[in-house]
Amino acid sequence: MTQARALTPQQVKRYSRHIIMGQVGSLGQRKLINAKVLIIGAGGLGSPSAVYLALAGVGTVGIVDFDVVEISNLQRQILHHNDDVGRPKVVSAQDSLHAYNPDVNVVVHETMLSSENAMEIISQYDIVINGADNFPSRYLVNDACYLLGKPLVDGSILIFDGQATVFIPGSGCYRCLFPTPPPPGMVPNCAEAGVLGALTGLVGSIQATETLKLILGIGESLQSRLLLIDALSMDFREVRMKKNPSCPLCGDNPTVTELIDYEMFCGLPSLTESAVAAQPAD
Ligand SMILES: [Zn+2]
Repeated sequence: MTQARALTPQQVKRYSRHIIMGQVGSLGQRKLINAKVLIIGAGGLGSPSAVYLALAGVGTVGIVDFDVVEISNLQRQILHHNDDVGRPKVVSAQDSLHAYNPDVNVVVHETMLSSENAMEIISQYDIVINGADNFPSRYLVNDACYLLGKPLVDGSILIFDGQATVFIPGSGCYRCLFPTPPPPGMVPNCAEAGVLGALTGLVGSIQATETLKLILGIGESLQSRLLLIDALSMDFREVRMKKNPSCPLCGDNPTVTELIDYEMFCGLPSLTESAVAAQPAD
């Protein structure tokens, strides 16, 4: 990675609480300024992740989302404000992030991530944060990150439960954990079952923290560990994960060698039918 120029006096002031940390310092801050992180979804998880990356001075933050802000989003999605209702989420997100830190280059991808565009979009970034709220996107992002060799910082939330982990290509992936998606309708989404808004901040902040650690090359990441959070009892547990040799993507004899039709894989109607039949969930 090429190093950024010396920090400006303004940057030294802004990032002083990073720079005085032995594990970050001026070199680490320049790594953050040089980094490019893609966030899938400007929703409950993408919001806090994006805010903390921008505040930290991550130089390029990309956001993929095709939704517009709805009033029901405002219970948790801190990138969007009351006046943003009806605006595209990526535009609202860009405004908020620039208000926090004008130095950040916010790249908006106002589109639904698909098998057609995922490789092209993800290839432009160093690390991906997954804030997807549906199974087709979760498998799509997992497969594309593995095929492109990009670390994936995964998170999910529902009701009072949260999960977070880090997938480093070659040491396990989402399909190692969940080779097949649950039958359609088995697992509700946040629109159907709800979520405690503050929990999205907790899990999204964990995703931001893991991303910053990966950029800085410090600490032990959640790689090979699945963190399970029960906010109702405030219980944090950890499950060890191993790469599954029979994983269809990253195992010894892979059968998934390129992106597939994820709607079909998840047993859902094709995109055009579902767009008519269902409203976006998050
Ligand atoms: Zn795998």
